Amino acid sequence: MNLMLMGLPGAGKGTQAEKIVDAYHIPHISTGDMFRAAMADQTELGVKAKSFIDKGELVPDDVTNGIVEERLAQADTNVGYLLDGFPRTLDQADALAAITDKLNKPLDGVINIDVDPEILADRLSGRFICKNCGATYHKLYHPTKVEGTCDRCGEHVFFQREDDKPETVKNRLKVNIEMNTPLLDYYEKRNLLYTVDGNQEIDDVFSAVQKVLDTIKD
Ligand code: ADP
Ligand code: AMP
Repeated sequence: MNLMLMGLPGAGKGTQAEKIVDAYHIPHISTGDMFRAAMADQTELGVKAKSFIDKGELVPDDVTNGIVEERLAQADTNVGYLLDGFPRTLDQADALAAITDKLNKPLDGVINIDVDPEILADRLSGRFICKNCGATYHKLYHPTKVEGTCDRCGEHVFFQREDDKPETVKNRLKVNIEMNTPLLDYYEKRNLLYTVDGNQEIDDVFSAVQKVLDTIKD
């Protein structure tokens, strides 16, 4: 299955991606994760991306489209893929269509995790991430089962994202909300859009996602 997860920052894309990847064994391709890895390694890409990410802005399309094209050309995506955080603009959506046509890996469905925007800042401010495996937690809504130990890999070191600071969050949400409606329309018109209610608890959101994936598989 070739899938894309849509949703505003904090909607739960990364959280649901972990569950989808475990259940369906397809690679998770998150442009945000790719940029954070490049920033941690201080590569040329990382240095460039950081100047935008720190302000809550989008990284320019030419940079972002390039890393996605390279990633989708890799053989592990032949069994399917789960895009997360890309595309975020209409130009990126057109670029993705061109890339997936060229590679003969067209999207089968877009899952939109719909969440009331008022609750997103709260989700982002409580988010923490395992330094080793990238699993995502929330201090109130999704704590680790054993305090200070990652449920997935047992790591004890976690980090908070720099861009989850309230100053950056405000601009990130503004930028992303503006882009969201036209993108939803874009995929709706192409009969690829499936919306799930992301205001529910994490496991209930996943049940809704699974129902959608069952219809896409048939
Ligand atoms: P995104 O990848 O869309 O930015 P995340 O999956 O990182 O979002 O989730 C943002 C934060 O909200 C995390 O701290 C996560 O644990 C928490 N979260 C995710 N889904 C839910 C949910 N359904 N209810 C409450 N908190 C959630
Ligand atoms: P995310 O982890 O998806 O919340 O992304 C973190 C940040 O990386 C975003 O706020 C953007 O600055 C940048 N980014 C991630 N994906 C994209 C994209 N598709 N286009 C432009 N910038 C992106």
